[in-house]
Amino acid sequence: MADPAGSQRCGTTVRVRFRPRSAKEADVRSVEYGPGEGCFSFAAPDGTRHSFTFDKVYGEASSQEQVFSDLAPVAEAALAGFNGTIMAYGQTGSGKTHTLLGNMSAPAHRGMVPRAVAALAAGIEAAGRVEAAEFSVGLSVVEIYCERIRDLLGPGGAGGEGLAVKEDPARGVYIEGATEVGVTDEAQLEAVMAGGLAQRAVSATAMNEASSRSHCIVMLRVDKSLPDGTIRAGKLVLVDLAGSERADRTGAAGATLVEGSQINKSLSCLSNVIFALTEDAKGGRPRHVPYRDSKLTRVLQDSLGGTARTVLIVCCSPAAENAAETLSSLRFGSRAK
Ligand code: ADP
Ligand code: MG
Repeated sequence: MADPAGSQRCGTTVRVRFRPRSAKEADVRSVEYGPGEGCFSFAAPDGTRHSFTFDKVYGEASSQEQVFSDLAPVAEAALAGFNGTIMAYGQTGSGKTHTLLGNMSAPAHRGMVPRAVAALAAGIEAAGRVEAAEFSVGLSVVEIYCERIRDLLGPGGAGGEGLAVKEDPARGVYIEGATEVGVTDEAQLEAVMAGGLAQRAVSATAMNEASSRSHCIVMLRVDKSLPDGTIRAGKLVLVDLAGSERADRTGAAGATLVEGSQINKSLSCLSNVIFALTEDAKGGRPRHVPYRDSKLTRVLQDSLGGTARTVLIVCCSPAAENAAETLSSLRFGSRAK
């Protein structure tokens, strides 16, 4: 039987972003761009060169504005009732948080989250001039750490722990008990996010370590109340994924190794879900999509696949010393195409 949603399937768009070389990294050119847009080659630690082609590749000098200009349609689709997901994947230090959040206090360095909020606010204002629809935008921020969901916007710093993923025909997939804050502009977002991210630290000494081991999920729910009283909901989810480096390569032991294997498990579940959806979108035999295999894919269930727009940004270091991890990230991206 023909699939009624088939013609609207969007598949997954995979883009690669190389961050600038840091002062500590040796000046060895591992990446050569071209020939053609989205094409580049990358040198493996053994000196062999590997060619890749993605939807787009952003070089070391790319700006936040450039990256967002390609993502704006995904954000704006939420106003029209579509769901979308923008995910940043890569090893710790590859530029995921810079890409998604950036530097909130420097306009040129603001990341995709504040830009998405600004685009939604502008879209709502423009829509208000032509139609009598009322929009509301709700923001939630949660963290998934060792398969437990934690609210990062809870009152008084007491974020709920071990929250459950629920589903409802009107709301779609949602996290029960996650605080939702109404946001109308970037300035308000900035204040809310600053509070939420301060809670992301699990142990005071290991802020960076904690953030590299958890997935941080920013959800923007857009409700449009139509004059006939019905509500059309769209959802934009931005995910700062846990560091993709392999636990056994970072010298982890004991509890840290257990955490590491949980993280690798949820990232491989994500890869399996995207792969199954990609194969489906290519018109292959319908596959079982293993959303229920991890909390991450369960939370993303209705914003991946179907009519949802999905963009994966593979963040990479250009440095030779990170080449093994970079190649493994690029292979993850290739499997998702
Ligand atoms: P991750 O979140 O993947 O661990 P970060 O986003 O924290 O990595 O980036 C690591 C460092 O590199 C930070 O100091 C960040 O400011 C810098 N950085 C990353 N990407 C860029 C970029 N595109 N332009 C400038 N600096 C960047
Ligand atoms: Mg980070």
